[in-house]
Amino acid sequence: MSPHTDPHYDLLRLLVDELKAIGAEDVKLTGYGVVLATIPATHEAGAPTIALLAHVDTAPQFSGTGVKPTVHRRYAGGEIVLPDAPGVVLSPQLFPYLATKAGEDIVTGGGTTLLGADDKSGVAIVMTVAHHLLQNPGLPHGRIRIAFTPDEEIGRGVHPDLLEDLNADVAYTLDGADLGEIIYETFSADRADVHVQGVAIHPGHAKDKLVNALHVAAKIVDTLPHITLTPETTSGREGFIHLYEMNGTAAAADLKFILRDFELDGLREHGELLQQVCAALQAGEPRASFTCTITKQYRNMRYWLEDDMRPIDLAREACRRLGIEPISPPIRGGTDGSRLTEQGVPTPNLFTGMQNIHGPQEWVSIQDMARATFVCVELAKLWSTARREASAAHHTEERKVPVDAQVPPDWSG
Ligand SMILES: [Zn+2]
Repeated sequence: MSPHTDPHYDLLRLLVDELKAIGAEDVKLTGYGVVLATIPATHEAGAPTIALLAHVDTAPQFSGTGVKPTVHRRYAGGEIVLPDAPGVVLSPQLFPYLATKAGEDIVTGGGTTLLGADDKSGVAIVMTVAHHLLQNPGLPHGRIRIAFTPDEEIGRGVHPDLLEDLNADVAYTLDGADLGEIIYETFSADRADVHVQGVAIHPGHAKDKLVNALHVAAKIVDTLPHITLTPETTSGREGFIHLYEMNGTAAAADLKFILRDFELDGLREHGELLQQVCAALQAGEPRASFTCTITKQYRNMRYWLEDDMRPIDLAREACRRLGIEPISPPIRGGTDGSRLTEQGVPTPNLFTGMQNIHGPQEWVSIQDMARATFVCVELAKLWSTARREASAAHHTEERKVPVDAQVPPDWSG
């Protein structure tokens, strides 16, 4: 079911009304909970259609109900105490990015909920871009599509019909953080499910017969690397094997892993290591049986963007024209853009200014949001003179694994 929860619909309907009020065309709420709209081209035909996306849902890990947005005008530097939770303090020592925002207007929540800047800041930016372009028909741009999506935080924002309904050549998600971020490197991701079938028997008669699946499962965990290759011991471009769920009985046990790497070779090695551990334990205990199933989740969008870097190059140019230094750090997660890119619409992620997301210390600078808005307007102008490519080269992967819509628990949001 999409969208995942009902309150999404209140916001989606509000966005429909607002898009109609500002004069957007083709405004529609799809059956799968995505708001779509068009800003018609003001420039010669033939320019690629660009889409701007933001997601309306917030992270499920922390309450996003009863948010009290608080604007701290002209931030003077120093600590910001949140009104409803005096213990929750934003300090520039702890959050160096805040130190760069003196003089700007900072929005926080009350301290007991999320702010929801992830990704309401993106929603606000996209809506403001739409409004600005519609108000200024003299600005040259091609056809622009707008999409507000649900269920991004649980990795289900890209419905199978979205690609066709969006009908764009290139897209940008407004779901990034620091000023100047143009993200086109995400993890490549697989899931691994290990099932251990032991030999069950009444414990009173178990001598030399019982093979306890829980003990075997514990051995798998113990044999896997602990001081390397885990999320808590890796950073930057390092990948990992992460056990995120385990359950079972003496008779049978299931272990669920996610495998992450920026490179396909690394990702494959993580899967092979897990399979080797299972094979080794199987050899030592032939009475138990093991299965290790690896399922594809999503891929680093760099593999596709490398073939045509214009979506990145033009975004960088848009930033530079506004005096913003573009940065492209790899992110240790996925985005809705990962799936769209893989399906053929290159979709990098642009900054919004959002900070400390998924917790009560979430904040955003209004000026960062304004800068992101200007970047999008500039980007629309730059694309208006670009040519449509016949077709992008398609990336091929040697390993054939079924595409699976299952949710990765590290979806970065
Ligand atoms: Zn997000």
